[in-house]
Amino acid sequence: NKVILLNKRPVGKPTTDDFKFIEEENPIIQEGQVLLKTLYVSVDPYLRGRMSSAKSYVAPFELNKPIQSGVIAEVIVSKNLDFKVGDFVSARLDWKEVQVSDGKHLLKVDGNAAPLSAYLGILGMTGLTAYLGLTEIGKPKAGETLVVSGAAGAVGSIVGQIGKILGCRVIGLAGSDEKNRILTSKFGFDAAINYKTTTDMKTAIANAAPNGVDIYFDNVGGDISDAVLANVNQLARVPVCGAISVYNETEVPMGPRIQTTLVKSSILMQGFVVSNYAAKFPEAIKQLTTWLQEGKLTYIETIVNGFDQIPQAFIDLFEGKNEGKMIVKI
Ligand code: NDP
Repeated sequence: NKVILLNKRPVGKPTTDDFKFIEEENPIIQEGQVLLKTLYVSVDPYLRGRMSSAKSYVAPFELNKPIQSGVIAEVIVSKNLDFKVGDFVSARLDWKEVQVSDGKHLLKVDGNAAPLSAYLGILGMTGLTAYLGLTEIGKPKAGETLVVSGAAGAVGSIVGQIGKILGCRVIGLAGSDEKNRILTSKFGFDAAINYKTTTDMKTAIANAAPNGVDIYFDNVGGDISDAVLANVNQLARVPVCGAISVYNETEVPMGPRIQTTLVKSSILMQGFVVSNYAAKFPEAIKQLTTWLQEGKLTYIETIVNGFDQIPQAFIDLFEGKNEGKMIVKI
């Protein structure tokens, strides 16, 4: 049974040396437990934070202990009355091919209602983050302009589509022409800007948002966000979801001091962690499922094959190698 441990804490961009593969004996389960076979593993930018020792909203991973992330698994042996062999579950689990659980934090998922991998994306943490961050903090109103960074990724591609459903003009920022093509052709964004080939982002955003920016859903931080914040309207809302552009920085990144912009334009800028809104998860999943069934929402996945590829798939997030949700199929 293969297991992936945190070998060392990454300095700067993670490398495969930061991870260690070991083999352990196949576990034997006790009364009340289930044996789980890993089917799909979610790799997410936030795991980078847990690999460092800095204090955060979740404890850091421990060295020489298994890394964990969102996993879809199949029950292959059960001594727990709540689960039967063949059930599919979603949970935060270890990066192991097979593992034991007491069943407590396992959520059953229905492979007939949606493809299993969707429960790691649009019907999982990603969809919840997009929906709740946008509606609870962004509070979009029809006719407003929404800018989304990291727009072709898992969260961003859903944020933009929800913005369109709610009647906004939506502008996406992503790192390749191909991603921008997908944003406008598949996800219905009104405009998309390639931040890697655009020299003057401030002007490019001003051109794409002639009425200014009312909501900025920020997934990336850094220079890109500086350029968007230079274009915000009075009473703009800025849900700060993530800052992937600075996750691998070893020094404190510098940028313009934005306090005067915040004051002058009375802007609300609020960071959040999706678990802040746990009480709203059921209603959010219901809404996302309805939109999905109605064909108003769609999603894409970048599926990488093989347990051994999990670390590389994670590293590739920082190279923008994914379109939509990055998932490893075991
Ligand atoms: P994505 O699917 O968006 O994957 C990451 C993407 O980030 C890449 O595809 C790449 O796209 C972009 N990227 C990588 N490096 C940089 C860089 N230096 N500058 C700008 N863009 C970069 O990941 P997720 O959708 O899972 O996560 C998006 C953000 O949301 C992250 O910041 C994550 O931490 C955050 N998040 C926050 C949650 C919360 O509760 N607050 C929950 C879930 C996610 P490109 O080719 O366009 O550069």
